[in-house]
Amino acid sequence: MFKVPRSFSYSSASVYKQCPRRWKYKYIDKLPDPTGEAALVGTFAHDVLEQLCKEEPALRTEQKANEIARNNWSEFAERKDFKKLELDEDSKRNFRWKAWDAIKGLWRLENPSQVEIEATEQRLSTSLLGVPFFGIVDRIDRDEDGLVVVDYKTGKVRHENLDQVLLYSAAVSEKTGEQPSKARLMYLGNREIDPQIVETDVSEDLMTKAITDLSDTWNKLKNNLDSEEFETATGPLCGWCSFIENCPDGINYVRKRADSGRLKPDAPARSLLGI
Ligand code: SF4
Repeated sequence: MFKVPRSFSYSSASVYKQCPRRWKYKYIDKLPDPTGEAALVGTFAHDVLEQLCKEEPALRTEQKANEIARNNWSEFAERKDFKKLELDEDSKRNFRWKAWDAIKGLWRLENPSQVEIEATEQRLSTSLLGVPFFGIVDRIDRDEDGLVVVDYKTGKVRHENLDQVLLYSAAVSEKTGEQPSKARLMYLGNREIDPQIVETDVSEDLMTKAITDLSDTWNKLKNNLDSEEFETATGPLCGWCSFIENCPDGINYVRKRADSGRLKPDAPARSLLGI
């Protein structure tokens, strides 16, 4: 029997829901799962916005964000996960532009100087329906209706991610006794995708739905941990799975997709499997 994890985050639950075997490779076997370029662009942008939002309201300007980004760059470029990308000078410049596009996206969604920010990068750890939930919420704001739970996103718009901010809202309610009024995802966008806000009013019903879903996932995971068996869930994302070389089902699936011309040209599995 494998040990039950001490905490369960939204991203861990998402990995499990996508593919239980992938969850095992990542969290039990702890196989290397290098962070991709897109995720690191998001990390850089998040760090800059976190620092910016700690400034006095009047100082939360694009100019200040630019200054923070410049100051942060040399240290960021020395990170192991960034170095592993092995980017040449042109690609590094492109990386910085992508991150800057995401950072600038904030001003297309709001004027941060006019936002009342109560907390940034707030760690939340609480039991939700028996699940040891853990998460770090990017921002907690206050507007005329009450608390607003905010998470920045740098990828494509996915409405199902509202569950993440609803879980954070439930954790904030649990911790502070004050139920947030809104849960908001701020998709910062890039050159191809316009920035967009996806949000919902927070209600008991919506929070309960998100918590029940998390609890169902947690209970399924506990069954897998008991039996030490984790089924595979093959799908197009196998082409991007870091663990493909360890997964016979994934290899078969990806090879079939490649044979039928349905494997995307940029899928990393191509080089990993020599396709
Ligand atoms: S390759 Fe596919 S089936 Fe195998 S672990 Fe990864 S996502 Fe799951």
